[in-house]
Amino acid sequence: MTRPAAPLRLSLDGDALVHNWRALAAMSGDAACGAAVKADGYGLGARDVVRRLAQAGCRDFFVATWAEAAALADLEPASLAVLHGVRDEDMAFALASPARPVLASAAQVARWRDAGGGACDVMVDTGMNRLGVSADDIIAGLLDGLTIDTLMSHLACADESVPMNARQRDAFAGLAGRTSARRLSLANSAGIALGADYHFDLTRPGIALYGGAQCAAHAERIRQVVFPQAQILQRRRVPTGETVGYNATWTAPADTQVAILNIGYADGYLRSFSGKGRAHSGDRALPVLGRVSMDLLAVGVDAAPELAEGDWIGIDYALPETAALSGLSQYELLTGLGQRFARVWK
Ligand SMILES: *Cc1c(COP(=O)(O)O)cnc(C)c1O
Repeated sequence: MTRPAAPLRLSLDGDALVHNWRALAAMSGDAACGAAVKADGYGLGARDVVRRLAQAGCRDFFVATWAEAAALADLEPASLAVLHGVRDEDMAFALASPARPVLASAAQVARWRDAGGGACDVMVDTGMNRLGVSADDIIAGLLDGLTIDTLMSHLACADESVPMNARQRDAFAGLAGRTSARRLSLANSAGIALGADYHFDLTRPGIALYGGAQCAAHAERIRQVVFPQAQILQRRRVPTGETVGYNATWTAPADTQVAILNIGYADGYLRSFSGKGRAHSGDRALPVLGRVSMDLLAVGVDAAPELAEGDWIGIDYALPETAALSGLSQYELLTGLGQRFARVWK
């Protein structure tokens, strides 16, 4: 027997995804434009993202771990890099894989070299103090003898206009020609908008592919990709003075029509939306009422008298606005979306 369809879904706009990649590729100028697809394509489903972007011409993909690389192996991406490098327990798999580790510490470099690993990437730390070898160690010869495809670094504050961006860029540019690297790569989504001197040979957008916008240049060009929708499980009238949901935080100021939706904080629709999230039916706005439950959500539907059990309601989820509303980051909004959503590409 086939399983019943899920009562909640992510409607995913494949045209918008490809549009966003093309827009970022155009903004990247002469640099190639890759795609960060870690965390299962920021929650959309990495396999579907890779298929669509590869077809559009994207060649360079980035994941965090070897498990994520393994999940994409049969798609044979032209270039796949594993951002967290190689631990001892990754080595057998990594050596047999066409994906490249992004070596991020002196110990990882030694591990890869001692094993006679082939082409690799290297992360250099230029001030973020997260992953990466130091520029001084590179100048001192740490990478000598390695076959490096891409030397990369990562910007700490690309979404802000601060002097640290130029400092990191200059530190990174100073390594040009100091290693065997075929390519240099610095910019994530927001870094692309900082200008041509941040592009180097390859850019690595993630969030903007999926509808995130952290600056005006992106806000103008980037389209929403992810549209959560939940089914109505029950519709009820809440009389004046009665309350809705846990801890009775919302009281009906007048008789109110309420729809109970199949979505909750276990799906990533977190409690920070309590009393302030928004849904919609067509262009009619429907307010979230009271607390978000684990699996359920109440919205006011006085504006949509025809809605009934079994109908679907859209949850407002434009990333910049929704982040401002909820206090969650655009990244958290996407990567928190749970496994109970059916992911439906249109
Ligand atoms: C996640 C990640 C990216 C993509 O960053 P966005 O801000 O989502 O564009 C690029 N490079 C590295 C090293 C990353 O970890």
